[in-house]
Amino acid sequence: MTQTPLSQRAPIDDHGATALEFTGERFTPECVREIWYEHWHRYLFARRIVAGKRVLDAACGEGYGSALLAASADSVLGVDIAESAVAHARQRYGQHANLRFEQGDCTALSCGDAQFDLIVSFETLEHVAAQQELIAGFARALAPGGLLIVSSPDKRTYSEKSGFRNEFHVRELYREELLELSGSGCPVIQMEEPNIHLIGIQRGGTGTGLGVDFFVKIFNNTVRGLRDTTEVWCHTCWGNPAQQRLFATNQSYKDALPHLNQLDVDVITFECCTSDGMDLELIGREITDKKIAIGVVNHRDLQVERPEQVADLIRRALKHIPAERLILSSDCGFGREGMSRRIAFFKMVSIVRGTNIVRRELGLPEAPCLAADARYAIADVIE
Ligand SMILES: [Zn+2]
Repeated sequence: MTQTPLSQRAPIDDHGATALEFTGERFTPECVREIWYEHWHRYLFARRIVAGKRVLDAACGEGYGSALLAASADSVLGVDIAESAVAHARQRYGQHANLRFEQGDCTALSCGDAQFDLIVSFETLEHVAAQQELIAGFARALAPGGLLIVSSPDKRTYSEKSGFRNEFHVRELYREELLELSGSGCPVIQMEEPNIHLIGIQRGGTGTGLGVDFFVKIFNNTVRGLRDTTEVWCHTCWGNPAQQRLFATNQSYKDALPHLNQLDVDVITFECCTSDGMDLELIGREITDKKIAIGVVNHRDLQVERPEQVADLIRRALKHIPAERLILSSDCGFGREGMSRRIAFFKMVSIVRGTNIVRRELGLPEAPCLAADARYAIADVIE
């Protein structure tokens, strides 16, 4: 990847434009010290992956970043809510044929669907209250396989530690929101992590230079400190769109395990029923100090597992994972349109009943299970 040091680039041909007035709301290239580094850094990071892409710079502000990306991208559209910023950007950077600026509200994008390969929106989220609308609009505007890069300050570092209050920030979040959740008594926070095993390993990264190590780092940054107040789980599965497989065959966690073992979590979940325990030995070997939740019922199959089947899988797991670190679960959520609540309920009953069989064998106390009463069975069992 060729990088042009910033110092060798034309300091964005400004055609004698006067600087946009700095009010504290929008960065301008005339700013100095850390704000300068931070703002340029984000665009320089994105610039590495914009080649040939149709890019939306949502809340482009002064326009300097859009212009930087336009030097490599196929096309760049900079959108900002402030007419004054857009007018300034057009005047200062308007000479690039592949760069346009439009006035618009990023929480109500007027562009068509699937228009962009990459959307960047740096330090925007915290300026808007309608954050869900913002993200939903990005999802709509991204072409299939597109990528969204957002940055937003961590409230704890940005506002609390510094005692700084940015009047333009409506809602700062991320780590802070997770910490709030744990502070309000949430006993477990489970994070979904397809980026590590599915994107980072199975698909060899995003194709945009974002690989498995990057995703591990992001995950650990996000949950940093969270385990002090709550239990943190990482959910991994092989996808569950409408109860369908994403892959024709069972996938192995093998290459992802050393990376998953680096996560700062208490528990990692693994699909193990669908694959008939294929990875149990590897999981037991590679996941060294965390609890391991294995799926013992299949979320893609409408047939309720019998407690004996569940017990069999647990016994095989116990050959590789110590009982005190083993948690039993379903392979993934039963959600969406594929499975009725009734079947999902009895699959959960089977988890409890199958676990009780093994608990009995180990001399451990059994969990009470009212639904185990034959009167509540989903169907008569014929041996
Ligand atoms: Zn899942």
